[in-house]
Amino acid sequence: MSILVVGSVALDSVRTPFGEAKDALGGSASYFAAAARHFSPVVVIAVVGEDFPPQHLKMLEGFGVDLTSLERAKGATFRWAGEYAQDLNTRKTLDTQLNVFADFNPRLQPQHCELEYVFLANIHPELQNNVLDQVKKPRYVVLDTMNYWIQGSRKALETTLARVDAVLLNDEEARLLSGSTNIFSAARKVMEMGPSLVVVKKGEHGAVLIAKEFIFTVPAFPLESVSDPTGAGDAFAGGFVGHLSTGKDPRDENALRAAAAHGVVCASFAVESFSLTRLAEATRNEVDVRLKALRELVRF
Ligand code: AMP
Repeated sequence: MSILVVGSVALDSVRTPFGEAKDALGGSASYFAAAARHFSPVVVIAVVGEDFPPQHLKMLEGFGVDLTSLERAKGATFRWAGEYAQDLNTRKTLDTQLNVFADFNPRLQPQHCELEYVFLANIHPELQNNVLDQVKKPRYVVLDTMNYWIQGSRKALETTLARVDAVLLNDEEARLLSGSTNIFSAARKVMEMGPSLVVVKKGEHGAVLIAKEFIFTVPAFPLESVSDPTGAGDAFAGGFVGHLSTGKDPRDENALRAAAAHGVVCASFAVESFSLTRLAEATRNEVDVRLKALRELVRF
């Protein structure tokens, strides 16, 4: 079952204590697609500008990603710049330039309106809503967002939240959205806004799934060397939605637990290099080897 993703395809400038990258391929939809490709074909809904390097499109195409709905518009590509503190857990956004995304009005091709697994990657919530309006019978919809939209476009974000099955947030976003400092009470408040599952991403400490019926915590895949955490959340989402898209019931607790394990494994490749370099190289076999190691890690 193909997966539909709407999100950013970007040029990122990132600085970490271990180096920096300038105008490198990034964007929430790019990282998601590079991870989800291991499980199902991916259709990307996004826009890039005239300055977007053709080799990046080639790389995305090389993943088998359907780019027929990727618009090429007049103007500059979305740009984001960020900097990480020494511990890699704190990130400061230095610059966000929406550029061609400011006027983007996605029009899905008829065959894409039939897709059932949808990832609303980090982008303006109005665009997320717009895409959801066009999908006829979504089976499982996952939403990602960030401070930028929680603070700047809250009303539209609340509309989106009411329409999705699961939402991915980090601690800070969960607090900002709910007004609660405790993540479990924050998740309960977020569930009252619509989603039946809240995934709290905890960086190097993994992720916590919080639903009415269960709580599940999965560690991050242990790595001795991390270069750049950018895109970890999107790669997690790629593994998470990717796994669900291959199964029968995306609301089944065991399926969701396994999906989270697939998520942290995909995220582990994203953080091993700047941009998409390592994630793009990862093979399905490498994914399976890390899944096996993760299973052993939590055995007792
Ligand atoms: P993550 O590290 O998973 O939060 O994702 C980082 C990616 O999100 C980067 O590649 C950025 O290009 C992209 N990004 C950052 N801010 C935004 C934003 N406001 N809207 C859409 N995408 C963004």
